[in-house]
Amino acid sequence: MTALFHPDGTCNPAYLKLDLFCKGLRIDASCDLSEDAREIIRNRAGLGSGLELVIGRDMYTNVPVVEWWVQNSPYWLVKNGPSYEIWQETRPFVYEAYDDLAPAGRGPWVGRLDRAQARRVDTVTVPPEPAWYKQRTSSGKLMQRIGCLQGTYLGVYWGPRCQNWGPRGENEFCKFCTEGQNLGTHEEVEKSIADVLETVLAARRESRITFVHVNTGFLDSNDYWGLFAELLRELKQKTGLLLGLQAPPDADFENYRRFKKLGVNNLSFCFEVMDEALFKEIGPGKARRAGLQRYLDAIDFCANEVGFDTVNGEIIAGLEPVESSLRAIDWITSHGAIPTVCVFRPVLGAAYAKRKPPRVEDMLPVFQHFYRRCMEKGLPIGIAPNVKVSLIMLPEECRGLMPDPNAWRMKRAMLWLARGAFGAWFNQRVRV
Ligand code: SF4
Repeated sequence: MTALFHPDGTCNPAYLKLDLFCKGLRIDASCDLSEDAREIIRNRAGLGSGLELVIGRDMYTNVPVVEWWVQNSPYWLVKNGPSYEIWQETRPFVYEAYDDLAPAGRGPWVGRLDRAQARRVDTVTVPPEPAWYKQRTSSGKLMQRIGCLQGTYLGVYWGPRCQNWGPRGENEFCKFCTEGQNLGTHEEVEKSIADVLETVLAARRESRITFVHVNTGFLDSNDYWGLFAELLRELKQKTGLLLGLQAPPDADFENYRRFKKLGVNNLSFCFEVMDEALFKEIGPGKARRAGLQRYLDAIDFCANEVGFDTVNGEIIAGLEPVESSLRAIDWITSHGAIPTVCVFRPVLGAAYAKRKPPRVEDMLPVFQHFYRRCMEKGLPIGIAPNVKVSLIMLPEECRGLMPDPNAWRMKRAMLWLARGAFGAWFNQRVRV
């Protein structure tokens, strides 16, 4: 049975990552995060609102620390000499205890762990803040407001505020999202191609990034080619880094062939839920401006007509019944795309901020199904060099959640070979 500890008493990092997404982490007074940690930057629809940690060898994890429901977490971050550790209270975790908490509360939840009533789970790494975060571009902008690390890759929001947030789209934003609040406060609204390029070069120099992921919200025109072409062309030509684009479906699918010609490696479409009624309820702007079918058509077109290196369909587990998430995974994988499966995080400021986080018991079968389907379909998972994502469980990380992690030996060997070949191909082409 998959659990936090292996039979030999060592920690299962995959389970810990998933459980931390579901429960969050409290901070023991021994910690010195202002000195040791990366600043918490609320971006990416609010999902990047947590503390960046590395679990196990290289499992980057953005752990919820400020939301009201974190008060109920049995997990604590403790500093022991120079090392950071995760501890778990030995009291039984009671999901219903959320009912007794004030959902308006705000952390970080700092206290003093009674170690006599807890057990050590594992040592973790708190990745330091890169020096380039506090550098400024030539135009004087703070680089951490241009882009930020989400694990080991650089995420950059590009374009105006998602138009689901107004001025004419009031009340049409997605109910789990806070992008409209973050842009301008945590992220720079006005940024030039030069600002982005300088930030990318600094992140490559210091943090050795290999992948730049740009995203945006809705435009009334749905002209994402017009919005991104110049930026992506410049980034590819000047850096040769891997590029990913996440945007709503373009008004003209032929533009995806042009993105491919520019050298874009990955396309990603966030439709969040497969249940059509919930799709409309959760994202009224998404439903009005595109609709679920348009998202599915875009995934199918990009994966099967254009053929990017990878195409992702992004869903949020915990926003719809488990069976519906399984159906979404089946649909995505049977169309040649790779699911990106987030765990629903009721973040501060979102319309769904006061909801309870999902139970790990419900999430486990979703992520097991995710891994199983990726392996059965022979999808190219874990190939890109040095791309560790802290906001989600990567498909290859979900192997640790399986009852038999050693299954699919041959396919895993082929993925390993493909990773080596792709890494060599990348090293020849990267220009910086
Ligand atoms: S489309 Fe929805 S999730 Fe994306 S930025 Fe707009 S409101 Fe947020």
